[in-house]
Amino acid sequence: MRKMMLVLAAFVVVCALLTGCAAGQPSAAGKTESAQAKGGVLEVKVLDVGQGDAILIRTADEVIFIDTGDVDEHPKLEAALKKENIKTVDKLIITHPHADHLGGASVIFKNCEVKAVYDNGEPTTTKLYRDYLKTIKAKGIPYKALVDGDVLDFGGGVSFRVLGPTAQMVKEGGKKNGKPNLNINSIVGRLEYGDFTMLFTGDAEKETEKAVLSHHSAAEIKSLVLKAPHHGSKTSSTTAFLKAAAPEAVAISCGAGNEYGHPHKEVLERYKKFNIKVYRTDQGGTIAVISDGKTYNVKEEK
Ligand SMILES: [Zn+2]
Repeated sequence: MRKMMLVLAAFVVVCALLTGCAAGQPSAAGKTESAQAKGGVLEVKVLDVGQGDAILIRTADEVIFIDTGDVDEHPKLEAALKKENIKTVDKLIITHPHADHLGGASVIFKNCEVKAVYDNGEPTTTKLYRDYLKTIKAKGIPYKALVDGDVLDFGGGVSFRVLGPTAQMVKEGGKKNGKPNLNINSIVGRLEYGDFTMLFTGDAEKETEKAVLSHHSAAEIKSLVLKAPHHGSKTSSTTAFLKAAAPEAVAISCGAGNEYGHPHKEVLERYKKFNIKVYRTDQGGTIAVISDGKTYNVKEEK
């Protein structure tokens, strides 16, 4: 009888554990709770890939890339994939089809099993872009264009809320001073994990920031960490946008001595004015942001 009781007790404990695990699955209603219950670690690495963006995100369940760096930085991306032992990419997000963001997609496709691809749906005419579309089709990878309002589930209680562009903006095509500009419709999205938030901006311009501000409240934009728009160019990081985002830290992805002079002095001054701690890949190497859904820390991996 006593033995039977023990077996029963063990059974109850196992059930409780299993239920506990099930409760840790992400759900829209209990985002914060599930993040904490799961106890997983979120890791965001703004990789040092010279002049360009390549961001590796790891949740308890998934591996995600936002952008892939430039064509001439393939060796750096390959080295990062090897170092981090990445063989599967659950979601590949391309913020916009410029080479310094799309250039390494072929490296990801070659070295990893890619389960889904997302971009802003705005086409361009380059061979790089055509090859990217061809590969997605040839490999039969599920593809979706993200628009304002979409929410991606990154697993482990982490979600990515798209703040722009709108479908209408993509339909019209991005324009700056009347001329076509692919930066304008860069995907802007907020990564959310419990109390931690990080804002991703691609190469957003001031026009992009204005659109995000007009469609979203400051509460929806506010983030603890900001991935600097457009490598710290003075054509974005406007005062209004920084006021709404109100980040504590900013990660600038740029190449040492780059020809554009990124990050621009004016922008660094603006960050300083807002008391935002600056991390730069050209100075400190890869920027690693780690969070447990409650607190976070940033370290440089040179
Ligand atoms: Zn760029």
